Amino acid sequence: PVDPPLRPEALRFDERGLVPVVTQDAHTAQVLMLAYANREAVAKTLETGEAHYYSRSRGELWRKGATSGHVQRVVEVRVDCDADALLYRVVQTGAACHTGARSCFYRALTARAEPGIGEMMATLEDVVAARLAELPEGSYVTKLHARGLGYVAQKVVEEAGESVVAALTEARGELAGEAADLLFHLTVLLHESGSSLHDVAAVLAARHGAPHKGQG
Ligand code: AMP
Ligand code: ZN
Ligand code: ZN
Ligand code: ZN
Repeated sequence: PVDPPLRPEALRFDERGLVPVVTQDAHTAQVLMLAYANREAVAKTLETGEAHYYSRSRGELWRKGATSGHVQRVVEVRVDCDADALLYRVVQTGAACHTGARSCFYRALTARAEPGIGEMMATLEDVVAARLAELPEGSYVTKLHARGLGYVAQKVVEEAGESVVAALTEARGELAGEAADLLFHLTVLLHESGSSLHDVAAVLAARHGAPHKGQG
């Protein structure tokens, strides 16, 4: 935002002393949860860099993750136009929802729209990380892991080749599918190498802000 930061005193709490807080994944823009904060929760959040709320059911200050370990590191706090709602942009550990879902908004009242790019990449990242942590029997990721990094690397090259062939031939209809195979195997390769799509996103974000240097 271009506007200078607002002083926390200028926040407009409701008659219960609360403001609604929308919490968003800072990397993917996925909406994670909605909760409320009182003045103390806002102050604690700004002071500690960890998301604090006010639990209306328990009637107390609530540090997200205090019991679950699913803490939220706050990257930025934004305030809406009329200063009566907050946006916490966070790096989420584990799940934002107490059900174990990454986002509380996993149910739809309408027909489901296709997830956005960021949400889909975040899901891919989560699924690959979870499979590699648990290595469930019968999972394709488990099989890739068992075959080793060299095999995963070979699959990445193979899927890159198939993508390029699809782009350059009559098989253009298969390009999206092959590119999906490529991104999936690339994600596994990143994780097997101690990296992740988040690291890739960070590099892209840094380049996006940097002066253009041309393709290297
Ligand atoms: P946590 O802050 O993750 O340690 O969770 C502590 C308690 O807060 C849980 O037992 C839930 O009752 C509640 N809780 C956690 N996350 C949410 C959420 N996203 N929305 C509503 N309640 C939550
Ligand atoms: Zn408002
Ligand atoms: Zn929830
Ligand atoms: Zn393929």
